[in-house]
Amino acid sequence: SASLFTAIEMAPRDPILGITEGFNADQNPGKTNLGVGVYYDDNGKVPLLECVQKAEALLIEKLAPRTYLPIEGLAAYDKAVQELVFGADSAVVQEKRAITVQAIGGTGALKLGADFLKRFSADNTQVWISDPSWENHRALFESAGFTVNNYPYYDPATRGVNFSGMLDALKSMPSGSVVLLHACCHNPTGADLSDAEWTQVIDVVTQRGLVPFLDMAYQGFGDGIEADGQVVRRFTEAGGPVFVSNSFSKSFSLYGERVGALSIVAASKEEAGRVLSQLKRVVRTNYSNPPIHGGQVVATALASPELRKLWEEELAGMRVRIREMRHLLVKKLKEQAPGHDFDFVTKQRGMFSYSGLTKAQVERLRDEFSIYAVDTGRICVAALNTKNIDNVVAAIVKVL
Ligand code: PLP
Repeated sequence: SASLFTAIEMAPRDPILGITEGFNADQNPGKTNLGVGVYYDDNGKVPLLECVQKAEALLIEKLAPRTYLPIEGLAAYDKAVQELVFGADSAVVQEKRAITVQAIGGTGALKLGADFLKRFSADNTQVWISDPSWENHRALFESAGFTVNNYPYYDPATRGVNFSGMLDALKSMPSGSVVLLHACCHNPTGADLSDAEWTQVIDVVTQRGLVPFLDMAYQGFGDGIEADGQVVRRFTEAGGPVFVSNSFSKSFSLYGERVGALSIVAASKEEAGRVLSQLKRVVRTNYSNPPIHGGQVVATALASPELRKLWEEELAGMRVRIREMRHLLVKKLKEQAPGHDFDFVTKQRGMFSYSGLTKAQVERLRDEFSIYAVDTGRICVAALNTKNIDNVVAAIVKVL
């Protein structure tokens, strides 16, 4: 007889995780996975940062009991996040206008923000994300009950941003619309706005009363921690509400610990207090309070001058290695496929590159060479290393 589950259909596979499943099943010892969203070191391993090891050693020494954290998370963590994201000397921090809650990774931060916005924005409020965007943005906001639209972003002709298209779209959004923006290192394209373009975006967002939701999953992978935080700071200086989701999955290589945060900037300390009280209800009715370990590791590392310095060095090491791989890839492609221009790859920022490879080329890379990339042509430059790059280049040259 029919049960609750009889008529349930199989959900579509996650496109990116599906690539990894295919990769894992591939028997070719020379296989390469460029479809991931993870930083690998030159040996193809996910690093365990030294600053994390040292912070964990300090924590183990303390042998602390595992009580519940407050609903908003570890106070030292939330404070450290605010200083990192907004700057310790910033007006929003000094005036206590920003509130921060520890979240289950950047994904959890986005979902908290989405749920909060759904509860408190006007009923007809819609959300706008870039075309294309991180593949989970749409689903997260839709699952919170929003209609999600795209604003123009990537221009395949220039391999950069269709800035006039983006600006026109912003100018036509109803006041109160939620605009999701990538604070740095756009995923999946690697194409970011210039400072001058951000100035125009901030002007339009402010003038039209749009609600900016800045997703910062790659702080430190563009030009550095401070430089990458500038967009967030400029939005907060423009006034108006600002939402910021940030993640330490990549910057601390703490993926599975699920360490992120949601910060909201309000007009006053008093307003911020009310916002926090309601945001805590969203947390309480979802998972009550966040896990301890990852937040403690990050808080410990950021609070210790020695570990903080070590983290900055290790993060710079990741940033520089990715940049070197971009240059090496372009150099080798130039030598072996002189008719093709790949210079744009060195201008892209963060872990990813929209390589320009077509779906058919991606399929050939997979079927003939066991090299896995996303159908859109997105490759993870952080998965390239000095050992696999020759193989990857040789294969790309064959499918061009
Ligand atoms: N936002 C963007 C743009 C991302 O690329 C990612 C992760 O890939 C996230 C958010 C989610 O981060 P987390 O893994 O910390 O949930």
